[in-house]
Amino acid sequence: MTDSAAVSDPTAAKRAARHQPAPTTSGGGTERLYFRQLLAGREFSVGDPVARQMMNFVYLLGDRQTGEAVIVDPAYGVDDLVDLLEADGMRCVGALVTHYHPDHVGGDLMGTPIEGITRLLDRVAVPIHVQADEAPWVERVTGVGAGDLTRHGGGDVVQVGEVPVTLVHTPGHTPGSQCFLSTDGWCRETRCSSTAVGGPTFRGATRRPCTSR
Ligand SMILES: [Zn+2]
Repeated sequence: MTDSAAVSDPTAAKRAARHQPAPTTSGGGTERLYFRQLLAGREFSVGDPVARQMMNFVYLLGDRQTGEAVIVDPAYGVDDLVDLLEADGMRCVGALVTHYHPDHVGGDLMGTPIEGITRLLDRVAVPIHVQADEAPWVERVTGVGAGDLTRHGGGDVVQVGEVPVTLVHTPGHTPGSQCFLSTDGWCRETRCSSTAVGGPTFRGATRRPCTSR
């Protein structure tokens, strides 16, 4: 159940360690993609021994110009995460769920209650984006209603401001596990791929050859 996410981009790891949003400006372009990687129990929800032991990463992803952002897998310290967004001048407009396990969405984690998306919905009324196959499990584990979840198929795109996030269905760790792919339109992308245990791996502001324009 524990998912470890490895940062394959050492520069991004250093930025995360400094609690700094990843810069996305290049070639005189305007900063648009907002991206932060945060380690539960160390960079937020500090002092929570379960969060510290589980070592889950959470990602904040958004559009700097519109101030809209989503939280990937809010489980521990949800108020900390929303506060971090607001301190950056951003506002939470949704959550993206990789999969239903309590260390990613909240619920009962071996007898320990994790607040998760239930707390997020108490604080902000936002859509919770899940793969359709995962929705019944998210409902069962967290107790949220079916109407709280926005169901998706693989390849769907969630628009966060002007930043598109493609939902990639990656069954394996669970039937409805998903990863996320985002680009800010300047041939930079933030990639998330499933590890052997299904956890997300983001590589922030990574360049790739431009084939779309
Ligand atoms: Zn898991």
